[in-house]
Amino acid sequence: MKNLTILGSTGSIGVSTLQIVAAFPEDYRVVALTAGNNIALLAEQVIKFRPKLVAVVSEQGAEQLAKRLKGVDVEILCGVEGLIRCAVHADSDMVVAAIVGAAGLVPTLAAIKAGKDIALANKETLVTAGSLVMDEVAQRDVTMIPVDSEHSAIFQSLAGQRGEDVRRIILTASGGPFRQHSLQQLESVTPADALAHPNWSMGNKISIDSATMMNKGLEVIEACWLFNLPAEQVAVHIHPESIIHSMVEYRDGAVMAQLGIPDMKTPIAYALSWPRRLPLDQQPLDLCRAGKLTFAEPDLERFPCLRLAYQAFAAGGTVPAVMNAANEIAVEAFLSGKLGFLAIPRLIEQVVARHQREELVAIDKVLQADLWGRQEARKLIREGVA
Ligand code: NAD
Ligand code: MG
Repeated sequence: MKNLTILGSTGSIGVSTLQIVAAFPEDYRVVALTAGNNIALLAEQVIKFRPKLVAVVSEQGAEQLAKRLKGVDVEILCGVEGLIRCAVHADSDMVVAAIVGAAGLVPTLAAIKAGKDIALANKETLVTAGSLVMDEVAQRDVTMIPVDSEHSAIFQSLAGQRGEDVRRIILTASGGPFRQHSLQQLESVTPADALAHPNWSMGNKISIDSATMMNKGLEVIEACWLFNLPAEQVAVHIHPESIIHSMVEYRDGAVMAQLGIPDMKTPIAYALSWPRRLPLDQQPLDLCRAGKLTFAEPDLERFPCLRLAYQAFAAGGTVPAVMNAANEIAVEAFLSGKLGFLAIPRLIEQVVARHQREELVAIDKVLQADLWGRQEARKLIREGVA
């Protein structure tokens, strides 16, 4: 029996995680859940999974939740302190980090410092504070298993191999809904177009990131930290079928890949059950029906976010946190119709160019850079600069 805390239980990853918990009640029990604004769904989850502790972002949300949960034996907390209490709960063996954005960093880091094993979906934790986070993981001897499908594929393709034998890893990318759009067509795409991902069903922020390919940029940085590789050893291939989830190339020329249908339940379940595999009720991969698997180089002219991410990682220090913060604000502005699709990378580039890089000596530096990046991005949007 493994006891779980799920940070971000009402999101796409959180809901899929709870489906796995429900399917394997002998193996998993929920100790704590956290959510942002979706109080109605959180209340349903509490009634079904009976955690000891829940936390929501706002005090108002906590009051609404308490009303819905009258008579239910659960402690309700709010704010970052509440999220942290869930992350470090004494009974929890593993924390599923599934909050979206840099908001996931502080609670995830608290869980690591408390020695909890981590199932990591929140890639922004490593993008913004990779060096600090990986230092803590090593010091506390924490097992951190990736949930992101590409990183799960790499993790599986590295099993039983020696690190020094790796020549490079190849992250696959679907290319998103606009893979074949011209620059001119990209100029006028709408949030609804961008949210319609061809292969994966995901939260709004990561869906827009997939459309701009910032998601792949964030994943390159995530991979560098997780697998301790320089960015030169992390390549990206466009693979529209999303069947090969990523690959590792070894120095003898051998390439190991992990394949499957595009469904996050497989990598989530693997992160929960590693090194075992759960008997999931998944549709089998039918390669004969899939027919062709195709690959192409990414186009950095139409999708500059991928280039921006490589550059930010090379610059290091506070730069990736600023890039991430600017991206979060740009995505929000695009979704609310305040920014065009191609203005997303323009805005990020301008915010990063104005930033005075600092070393990541402590987590405070990350939080300051994050805040600065958000403020600067909002200011440039107001001024109509991007
Ligand atoms: P989502 O938007 O569906 O859910 C996010 C969750 O975080 C929700 O429970 C929400 O209430 C909570 N939340 C949002 N803002 C918060 C805040 N400020 N404080 C506390 N909680 C907050 O997101 P998702 O698609 O499930 O993605 C979650 C993470 O997993 C992201 O980092 C994403 O990049 C990563 N990921 C997602 C997928 C996917 O298929 N959805 C795949 C790979 C990686
Ligand atoms: Mg991914």
